[in-house]
Amino acid sequence: MTLRQLNIVPIVLLAAYIPLSHFYPVIEWWGLGVVFLLQLSVLVYGCMNISSGYFFRALCKAETKEQVIALSFDDGPHPGRTDNILDTLKKYNVPATFFCIGKNIPGNEPLLQRINSEGHIIGNHSYSHDFWFDLFGSKKMLADLQQMDEEVKRVIGQKPVLFRPPYGVTTPNMSNVVLKGKYIPIGWSIRSLDTTAKDKQKLLLRITGQMKPGDIILLHDSIEMTADMLPELIETIRNKGFRIERLDKMLKVNAYA
Ligand SMILES: [Zn+2]
Repeated sequence: MTLRQLNIVPIVLLAAYIPLSHFYPVIEWWGLGVVFLLQLSVLVYGCMNISSGYFFRALCKAETKEQVIALSFDDGPHPGRTDNILDTLKKYNVPATFFCIGKNIPGNEPLLQRINSEGHIIGNHSYSHDFWFDLFGSKKMLADLQQMDEEVKRVIGQKPVLFRPPYGVTTPNMSNVVLKGKYIPIGWSIRSLDTTAKDKQKLLLRITGQMKPGDIILLHDSIEMTADMLPELIETIRNKGFRIERLDKMLKVNAYA
């Protein structure tokens, strides 16, 4: 049973409650309240957990038995940090995916070009990365994503297909937008939590301690500690016998339209 199919539970209970409460006054109204609260919790869980596939299916890992993983960096391009990360990736000959924010592109075109020319791919992480993005109507949300597409197209001449929702939150609205915009939603299977990490070694352990074949690791190129940790991360991944592959290759999808 999928999370979504759980929706049927309160409907069935409500349908049963009305006649039952007539014969068994012991069934209190608050019993039904509890059921609806539980249902609300499931809904919130579905919104907050992209891997639950509650509103639409996002690719969160590759189905493979091979010791392969992919690195993804959100929220760039960020001058001073993304460059550092690109230097390390080049040194170790590692490909990655950058889910960029459109509004960060103007003024940072050379950085975006560098990501592209050094063999990495660029995904759509929205134009605004607005705090209220998830509450945007379908039209506004699609326009935001298309504005990001245009920025990428302007700089590298190609339109991104891979889309990672800002904050990893998914909604029914977004499901329509993904369909209309023909995006491939991408999640992750290892959330590094690098944006709030205080200790580099703990961060490294959190990521590498749970690696499984086909994992997608979520990092942020806007975070200094991530850039500092990257050489050690790559070495640890390799020492554990894993190969780092580009996300689109690992998932067997096209990165650009
Ligand atoms: Zn983000």
